[in-house]
Amino acid sequence: MSVKPTQNEALVSRILTFSCVDGPGNRLVVFLQGCNFDCITCHNPHTINHCTHCGDCVKSCPSDALSIASQQNGTQRVVWHADKCTHCDLCIDVCPDKSNPKIVRYSVDDMLALIRQHHFFLNGITISGGEATLQLPFIIALFKAVKSDSELAHLTCYIDSNGSLSRTGWERVSPYLDGAMIDLKAWQSDTHLWLVGRDKHRVIDTIDYLATQNKLHEVRLLHIPGKSDLDTEVDAVGDYLNTLPKEVKIRLNAFQHHGVIGEALTWEKCSESEMNRFHDLLFSKTNRPMQLPTIYT
Ligand code: SF4
Ligand code: SF4
Repeated sequence: MSVKPTQNEALVSRILTFSCVDGPGNRLVVFLQGCNFDCITCHNPHTINHCTHCGDCVKSCPSDALSIASQQNGTQRVVWHADKCTHCDLCIDVCPDKSNPKIVRYSVDDMLALIRQHHFFLNGITISGGEATLQLPFIIALFKAVKSDSELAHLTCYIDSNGSLSRTGWERVSPYLDGAMIDLKAWQSDTHLWLVGRDKHRVIDTIDYLATQNKLHEVRLLHIPGKSDLDTEVDAVGDYLNTLPKEVKIRLNAFQHHGVIGEALTWEKCSESEMNRFHDLLFSKTNRPMQLPTIYT
């Protein structure tokens, strides 16, 4: 069975019909499955890979919500029965591939129908992930459809991204895009490579491009005490942030253990006092307002 999304179909891991932290105002947020980064600190590691339908998770389900179906071509497919699922996530815990059997395919028409149900309460939609832009043809088709629909055209269309999309990709979606939130997880390329599995050049290129297009809504900085380098490289980070338009929001995220697996669970969490130290240091270089976390776990 193909795990590849198509122009008119997306592989969706979760949908929030209301969020006020994923872009401006009230937003419907679609989390797409699949990511091209492999962050040590990922707090949703089961969104990284596509399900290979190995079947290992089926027996773990206490609610009989997973089964194996044989395909005409002789392969097997794991089927999720949403009506029986209690969302205990035991299936996710046992998956050897950092995946999730609860993936749903949505066509553009399916998604438009869902948005239409909620549009009276929404300012816009945000496509997140995983890495949203790995399913760019679907995003472009969906945003185009929203913008050309008389009932939905008032909704703003945002992307929440790790910044890895090429300049050409951003140019393709830009005519239909109102804004984007981009993560910057480290300053030095080798630190970035160690933390996420890729260097930071594409991320910087993305931030620069979106800023020139007035489509950069927010840059998110993840502070991991003693591991990331956004504090030790504060002069360079501050100088860079100062090149961005004043309207671009800066959000500081604190590393926490929720959802994290592997070695990062042994790392120190970012406390409120440590985050305030980082904030004050960065503020002394930028004099820009920055959004701080409201919850520390
Ligand atoms: S979710 Fe993981 S364990 Fe379950 S079938 Fe897919 S790859 Fe196998
Ligand atoms: S999350 Fe749903 S499908 Fe997965 S093990 Fe729990 S009940 Fe079964």
